[in-house]
Amino acid sequence: MSRVYNFSAGPAMLPQAVLEQAQQEFMDWNGSGMNVMEMSHRGKEFMSIAQQAEANLRDVMAIPDNYKVLFLQGGASSQFAAIPMNLLRGKKSADYFNTGQWSKKAIAEAKKYCDVNIVASSEDANFCTVPERDTWQLNPDAAYVHYTANETIGGVEFDAIPDTGDVPLVVDLSSTILSRPIDVSKFALIYAGAQKNIGPAGLCIVIVRDDFIGDVIDGTPTMFDYKVQADNDSMYNTPPTYSLYLAGLVFQWLKNLGGLTAMAEVNQRKADKLYNAIETSGFYANPVTPKYRSWMNIPFTLNDASLDADFLAGAKQAGLITLKGHRSVGGMRASIYNAMPEQGVDALITYMNDFAAKNS
Ligand SMILES: *Cc1c(COP(=O)(O)O)cnc(C)c1O
Repeated sequence: MSRVYNFSAGPAMLPQAVLEQAQQEFMDWNGSGMNVMEMSHRGKEFMSIAQQAEANLRDVMAIPDNYKVLFLQGGASSQFAAIPMNLLRGKKSADYFNTGQWSKKAIAEAKKYCDVNIVASSEDANFCTVPERDTWQLNPDAAYVHYTANETIGGVEFDAIPDTGDVPLVVDLSSTILSRPIDVSKFALIYAGAQKNIGPAGLCIVIVRDDFIGDVIDGTPTMFDYKVQADNDSMYNTPPTYSLYLAGLVFQWLKNLGGLTAMAEVNQRKADKLYNAIETSGFYANPVTPKYRSWMNIPFTLNDASLDADFLAGAKQAGLITLKGHRSVGGMRASIYNAMPEQGVDALITYMNDFAAKNS
């Protein structure tokens, strides 16, 4: 067996220990004689898997009791619509930060349901930064404020939770959830698609404070109503059972390695050494304002773009794959989520240094 270091932005690597456990349990989960995929979602085996997954997520994220955890389908993209449907609550407008491609998509969807006030935008700066606080135009009457904590494509991450006063705060945490501790109590709602830092695609996690459940706009589809999902323990219909099982294994893996504080230490070290390699190379560059550089998604360019194809081909031979940058940005992007071992980052740095030495 030979495994590669996969720098894909998502779906992304899963921890090897998790894949091995799933393999071990593949034909016979815990003496049930079944694969988890074959179980009824209402049976006692799967119910125990779902309950344990939620309990472990609550534990690793320290989610307060007055928050519901929903395991939904439709990806983070469905939440772009579900959020205004559930959180407008009679108000006409919502505040959105525009810091990258995912913000833009959230904004475009929200505009179908309400007026969107752009608090601040970094579009003029090519989405390479977060607008400075003194430029933010927050509307005190907004139903909520939405931001994308980590822009997966641009590699831009807010350095702190924005202070929005009494206006409820909503965050798209898709590509940075579980990378470090976060104070859940600061938020009305947190959401994240699973395929970056949680588990397989097909699952989206919504963590929502109790008092934001149960007042949707007319015409909201049943499946998008948080109250329906909460009242049915996310099993109004058939949930993505296997994805939920694997996510549960990932939460257990995080617990075993010491939780998010321990994970954050490794993540910071991985990111620091990769940025440092880029900065000191004289050959590679990262366009993002240093203070807002993502720990998870690290775009970089070569000083001669005509070498891009060679770089990627050589990387592949070295077992380092999916480094091509997003089509809207070009260059390279290394996504180094929780499941990317530190040795993978070390191997990438070694390769980058060798490539630069040969080509400068
Ligand atoms: C990937 C991603 C999304 C979209 O997730 P889907 O699950 O594919 O809908 C939204 N926001 C961010 C920040 C992402 O990285």
